[in-house]
Amino acid sequence: MTAARRQWKLRRALLIVQKYGGTSVGTIERIRAVARRCLATQRQGHDVVVIVSAMSGETNRLLGLAKQISELPDERELDVIAATGEQVSVGLMALAIQAEGGRAVSLLGHQVRILTDSAFARARIKDIDGRAIAEALDDGKIAVIAGFQGVDAQGNITTLGRGGSDTSGVAVAAALKADVCEIYTDVDGVYTADPNLVPNARKVNRISFEEMLELASLGAKVLQIRSVEFGMKFSVPIHVRSSFNDNEGTWVVPEEKAMESVLVSGVTATKDEAKITMHGISDQAGIQAMVFRPLASAGIVVDVIVQAYVEGGRTNLTFTLPSADLARARDLLVKQCGHLCSADNIKAETNLSKVSVVGVGMRSHAGVALKMFEILARENIAVQLISTSEIKISCVIDAKYAELAVRTLHDGFELGKPV
Ligand code: ASP
Ligand code: MG
Repeated sequence: MTAARRQWKLRRALLIVQKYGGTSVGTIERIRAVARRCLATQRQGHDVVVIVSAMSGETNRLLGLAKQISELPDERELDVIAATGEQVSVGLMALAIQAEGGRAVSLLGHQVRILTDSAFARARIKDIDGRAIAEALDDGKIAVIAGFQGVDAQGNITTLGRGGSDTSGVAVAAALKADVCEIYTDVDGVYTADPNLVPNARKVNRISFEEMLELASLGAKVLQIRSVEFGMKFSVPIHVRSSFNDNEGTWVVPEEKAMESVLVSGVTATKDEAKITMHGISDQAGIQAMVFRPLASAGIVVDVIVQAYVEGGRTNLTFTLPSADLARARDLLVKQCGHLCSADNIKAETNLSKVSVVGVGMRSHAGVALKMFEILARENIAVQLISTSEIKISCVIDAKYAELAVRTLHDGFELGKPV
């Protein structure tokens, strides 16, 4: 590259989407600090689109108000209420940018037109119209967009599920073909384990979309899983970083050769898992469908499923599910699967945790599962169920050992060591 060309490349205007989470906009002071950061980016010559969450604690407060009126509130109205948190923060952010001498305009979900389906409280984005944003940028403004919310084809306000502003950010970045989606949070990036549990957890510099997907679904809280799906599908580089400093964070990017040399990239644990075992049901075609049909109809998500043959044409069927759904699920099975086994043989257990190690390196290395089992065995932690994918191994254990398991796996796989 010639010097002149390098100069040009360095100065090329980028389209940068910055998403700020609740703690990053938790106070007026924080909002001012974010406004200055957005303006500094714009002054480097870039186009800036900002997505903001509600101020920290606000969404919980709003949902709490609704709960005071109704135990099981109507989800359409719940979304009307919850979406106001972001309406306040975009207005404040636009004002703060203006107060710093910049130009900004706030846009709510329906004003951008973030079109979603009508699944209130868990809506999926179907389409984003980039025109209102493009107009603001052409005008030299910073577009400040409300995260978490959208609008359905009938004009109802919808929300994307807890943590949904991440998905708003990445989806807007994808729709605008932005150069990067920066996700600003209160930690420096994605860590090898939860730094609150593991003091020597290390920030990861680069992680693949696939690993991030696994980590997000297995208990890591940094990114909503759908945001990672969007990033992967539309190749949006995601940069997770802190709004409290200028440190380089973690880049979530397509898999790279070098990532394979690392056996395990992260350790996570989920809480609030439960399991149900149906003992000694008859081992014939179609029983699995009979068991899972009523659960699926009730919207209960099951996870690890293990079937084990026992003597005499009988089988034990075990699966995990969220603790919150346990009573309802067992009830449904007792009522609708009584012909498969007696109520006494439908055993429910709660207080479980799923501990997982994730890494693309395990595709090309033998013995990772063995190593995990050896590490857990050293601490006398009994494994109840196991499930694997190409790049993860999960063990279901008693929840009271979850933190110990995470720490000891983190040590055993030497994740605290600088790479
Ligand atoms: N405010 C919403 C929530 O608390 C969305 C988000 O912050 O991402 O879940
Ligand atoms: Mg979040």
